[in-house]
Amino acid sequence: MTSENLNSVIATLERLYGTEKCGLNFKTPFELLIATILSAQCTDVRVNIVTADLFKTAETPKSILSLGQAQLKNMISSCGLANTKAKNIILTCEKLLTDFNGIVPRTMAELSSLPGVGRKTANVVMSNAFGIPAIAVDTHVFRVAKRIGLAQGDNVAIVEKELMAILPREIWSDAHHWLIWHGRKCCTARNPKCEICELKDFCQYIK
Ligand code: SF4
Repeated sequence: MTSENLNSVIATLERLYGTEKCGLNFKTPFELLIATILSAQCTDVRVNIVTADLFKTAETPKSILSLGQAQLKNMISSCGLANTKAKNIILTCEKLLTDFNGIVPRTMAELSSLPGVGRKTANVVMSNAFGIPAIAVDTHVFRVAKRIGLAQGDNVAIVEKELMAILPREIWSDAHHWLIWHGRKCCTARNPKCEICELKDFCQYIK
């Protein structure tokens, strides 16, 4: 992609989605960490419904642990994968208390040492809770970035590196949101709306 086309893609995405932010509701880094673990293979809307109740009852590692795994699993069951998510959340809360004094850490190495926390979740927490530039590559970012021609890699780790290389660091976190929203609203997995897409003049997929 030429630098002129790249600038046009960035400007268009910013114009379309510049006011969009993280779709998950949270008040603290810990709440965002738990919400992001719950969001695997689940919509942000569903996670927000579940966490609205959950965080009223338990909003710290200690209080989640005092619920116990069975009650936690019940409370998060509508998010899907409840067994795995409840187990990982309990283990993560234990590790936060044991190794991090109950405080969510800020680095990729520390965050990804928590059970159930991969690069995507760590990047979401770093960028949205701590304002650290990062590009979390989820299914929307992966698909849309590759279709437009911002990345070519065949796994999320490579696409993350490619996006960090091509996009200015100061827009990494925003670009993550822009690509997600473009994937939700226009560049859907099935039947992307290319005919009305404002990126169609620059997009590799349509060519
Ligand atoms: S032109 Fe089509 S494939 Fe390209 S970004 Fe737009 S919707 Fe996606």
